[in-house]
Amino acid sequence: MGTSKRWGSVYGKDNPFSLQQSVLQGLRACAKAHKPGDNGPVKFIWFCLCGEGCACCADAARQRDASNSAPKRPLAFEEWLAILDESAGLGATAAVLSIGDGWPSGLKLWEFCDWAESAHGMSMGIHLAKRALTEHECAGADVLSRCKTCFFVDEGLSDAMRFVEEMGFRLVSLSYEKNAHVTPECTLPQAMTCVGSDGHLYTCGIVMQEPQYNLGNFFDKKLAAVMTDPGIPHTVPEDICKTHGKCDGCPPLMTKHFEDSDEAAS
Ligand code: SF4
Repeated sequence: MGTSKRWGSVYGKDNPFSLQQSVLQGLRACAKAHKPGDNGPVKFIWFCLCGEGCACCADAARQRDASNSAPKRPLAFEEWLAILDESAGLGATAAVLSIGDGWPSGLKLWEFCDWAESAHGMSMGIHLAKRALTEHECAGADVLSRCKTCFFVDEGLSDAMRFVEEMGFRLVSLSYEKNAHVTPECTLPQAMTCVGSDGHLYTCGIVMQEPQYNLGNFFDKKLAAVMTDPGIPHTVPEDICKTHGKCDGCPPLMTKHFEDSDEAAS
């Protein structure tokens, strides 16, 4: 079903994204102008959306306090959409949302994913490492594309998340994503950025606690400028990868899982 037809059938006259839809054409034109003949500087975007009380977010916030950059509040839904739209306009084709202990405040999660898939044609991964979602929490996921959505869950949570398979979604159980391919450094962040719960950008989700990998706030800088700035880190050294352990949730790696599961199914 085409995008406009699908939106009409899902939301009728109360389409909450009419404003975003009206500026979408402009964003696509901007993306074309940014790098003619190129998909742009961002291929993957990783939203690390831990809830209140998450230890890694608290650590990251403490590091940011020293740098005095703003905002420190949770983002509003429109701000989340602005980040998504800009990354899609710069070429992002896949996103992963890592959800922590809580529910990301300010984010209408399923509407957000639906917008990414319907308006931008992005593939969406829902990554769960700390707790399973309930059937009630996932009821809103029913609007999402079964071809573009995949749930990536820690193997300890996979039994509790089996119900999403009954909903028609793919479920991938993760048992420690090894990062042997990062020798001597991981260059995947050259086409990826990670966004924290308050809009701060990071080289990668596993270095959110390290101040040198805080690339600034999305609302302070142009994302294109961040991604093409050679003066800020777009790689993660091997020793940090090793000491920080898991790369579960990493969008390029999750996209590979997604493609592999596509191949296995065909
Ligand atoms: S999560 Fe691991 S594999 Fe992915 S970009 Fe970061 S260091 Fe590289």
